[in-house]
Amino acid sequence: GTVLITGASGFLGSHIAARLIDQGYRIRATFRSEAKSQLFRNVLGGNNIETCIVPDITAPGAFMEAIVGADFVVHTASPFTFKITDIDKDLIQPAVQGTARMVEAVASSSKVKRIVLTSSFAAVVDPTKGQRAGHAYTEEDWNPMNPEKALENNLFGYQASKTFAEKAAWDFIDSNAGKGKTPSLVTICPPMIFGPVHPAAGITKDALNESSAQLLHAVTSPDPAPTRMPVFVDVRDVAQAHVDALDIAKIPSSERYVVCAGKFTWAAIKEICESGTATTESMSPADDYYSISAKKIEDMMGIKWISLQSSVQDALRSLDVKSKI
Ligand code: NDP
Repeated sequence: GTVLITGASGFLGSHIAARLIDQGYRIRATFRSEAKSQLFRNVLGGNNIETCIVPDITAPGAFMEAIVGADFVVHTASPFTFKITDIDKDLIQPAVQGTARMVEAVASSSKVKRIVLTSSFAAVVDPTKGQRAGHAYTEEDWNPMNPEKALENNLFGYQASKTFAEKAAWDFIDSNAGKGKTPSLVTICPPMIFGPVHPAAGITKDALNESSAQLLHAVTSPDPAPTRMPVFVDVRDVAQAHVDALDIAKIPSSERYVVCAGKFTWAAIKEICESGTATTESMSPADDYYSISAKKIEDMMGIKWISLQSSVQDALRSLDVKSKI
């Protein structure tokens, strides 16, 4: 089948796109710029790739052309950055309107069988409950974000963008339930994503995606910051979860999945860079926080999560950062 994938120039999107091709799908990948589209084609090449430019994913009819002929949609494009000036315009609108334009395009097609949406643990965590030691978040949890709180700071703005976008997708599914050939929706909610930068992504050391930038900051700063959201997953596992989410035989109906490999701290990441492993001591501040139970997807996929050590080492290698191991 043919998969329309957005955000294929991104840290996560590039890994998903490469894996889709490996697993025999044809892809149609969307980019904001010709330069990133070209880099992607140069690295991944081949007959199974079509690329198209969608300069503004919030524009009316943004995906109406790109959707034609697609059997599946994987929508990853969404801003994950705190370098913004306007929370609504720079974070919330692209996330929510981008998702709205995508579901409108899907509604206009009779061919799409499934939408896979990259949501986030940001749409799951409840920031009003604090560190919540002992609590294991699951798919049942939702961030209780509202439009006023969203504008308080950039972190809430990002959480709101992901929460409202995922809700918009579920609203589309719910309001079309029982109306003939509505596609099903699978949402994937990852916490902090680490791991290697794919060569097909438009990412350089000077223009890093947010989570890789935070990782690099931790290993280069003398005194790592406290870790306020100490849960992670490797980008390759998140990519595989997106690909598996297209398997309608395995997942027959709409589902929400959290993905998580375990806990981390910035201090532990620095230790891994310096000596190859993290001590129990550097990991212990994470015990004061909630965890995530990814049992639902573990049972479905039989996944063995990539460890923090491999994730960090492969991230550093891909960025050409010399670690002492
Ligand atoms: P990147 O910044 O590397 O990728 C984001 C992608 O979305 C890029 O392709 C980017 O396009 C596109 N994009 C960003 N802003 C806009 C916009 N305003 N209009 C159109 N396209 C836009 O980050 P990630 O790969 O990490 O993020 C991918 C997805 O994963 C996002 O939905 C993010 O919320 C989610 N996520 C990421 C986590 C992480 O730790 N990395 C954790 C949880 C969820 P371009 O290349 O042109 O900039």
